[in-house]
Amino acid sequence: MSFKPANQIQDLQYFGEFGGVNPSISDSSTYTFLSAKTMFDTFEGNADGCYLYSRHTSPSNLYLGQALAAMESTETASVFASGMGAITATILQLCGANDQIVSSRTIYGGTYAFFKNFAPRLHIKTTFVDITDLEIVEAAITPKTKVLFCESVSNPLLEVSDIKALAKLAEKHDLKLVVDNTFSPLSISPAVLGAHITIHSLTKFINGTSDTVGGVVCGSQKFIDDLRDVNNGASMLLGSTMDSLRAASVLKNLRTLHIRMQQHSKNALFLAEKFENDGLKTVYPGLKSHPSHQLFKRMMNTEYGFGGMLTIDVGSLEKANQLMERMQHENLGYLAVSLGFYKTLFSAPGSSTSSEIPEHEQKAMGLSDGLIRFSIGLDADIERTYEKMNHCMKTLKIL
Ligand SMILES: *Cc1c(COP(=O)(O)O)cnc(C)c1O
Repeated sequence: MSFKPANQIQDLQYFGEFGGVNPSISDSSTYTFLSAKTMFDTFEGNADGCYLYSRHTSPSNLYLGQALAAMESTETASVFASGMGAITATILQLCGANDQIVSSRTIYGGTYAFFKNFAPRLHIKTTFVDITDLEIVEAAITPKTKVLFCESVSNPLLEVSDIKALAKLAEKHDLKLVVDNTFSPLSISPAVLGAHITIHSLTKFINGTSDTVGGVVCGSQKFIDDLRDVNNGASMLLGSTMDSLRAASVLKNLRTLHIRMQQHSKNALFLAEKFENDGLKTVYPGLKSHPSHQLFKRMMNTEYGFGGMLTIDVGSLEKANQLMERMQHENLGYLAVSLGFYKTLFSAPGSSTSSEIPEHEQKAMGLSDGLIRFSIGLDADIERTYEKMNHCMKTLKIL
């Protein structure tokens, strides 16, 4: 039987200070102590349940973290000001000078730029690999490797990582497997498949209203305690903490995630099948033509589908730009980066979200100029949307 992540969220119960059905928002940066001794113990990390200062954590952040840990089936979680805040703190907690990372080469542009351009300043070196080729992944591991990094479904090429197999490799070589699950919340549960640390950009599907940035690291109590350690913790010392007001609002949005993911997935599958049928080069993990369709099926929590992300290739950047402008004009979605909104969002990753990746490397990984990445919206009438998109494509002679 597959894991039921939405039940885990539904089954949590907490009340506000005055019996409110939502937990009270902790509107304070600092907290009083009844005794000076407790303050000392809290600094030493020995006073559970005591709050110190909101960069460390706050009740609102703990509630949201708890819900996300329940969803990902990890012991606990810590929320961050952004997805990049979560990723950079995790990597800097796990790696120091002369350590190495083996990472999928098709990852979010910001993560790629951090590994490629920033981490080397701290003498942390990354080897980028085709994550779908396990022999290549293993060959890249050296005695200095500390972290194996991938996205469950990659941005923007929608490659699927075999998390179970990667977890075995990580175990064999004593590495931490860190999985960015931003593209497939609920559908894939990396920790259940063996990942040590699961990260999300909350900015995307989880919050779902494109009104904030946020991130989360889900993992063991030990790792999250390390991140928050007053003396050595990357989250405590780098300071990318989430604000309490925002944590409260993200928690409220999280409660409808299962309904939204089902609709995103249903709409995306409908369009992907239509586009492929029309002869467009379409990539969607729910299509039988996707090289990892069977793998995704083996890993997925079936009721949430194959996710809301798909790509098509319309041949050239010029055509891609024309189509996106046209679709925006017809109010079929917005020409915008990011994902997980109620409206469809589209962008050409080669010239936007993945532009950190040099052109020759984009080519090598199969990221072509005419690629359009879609985050399919919650459209109530996806057939009507398809008809209108089809009309745009015909007008522009893409079909
Ligand atoms: C957006 C995104 C990030 C970064 O998250 P922010 O909230 O923008 O900092 C990381 N990974 C993936 C897969 C993303 O889509």
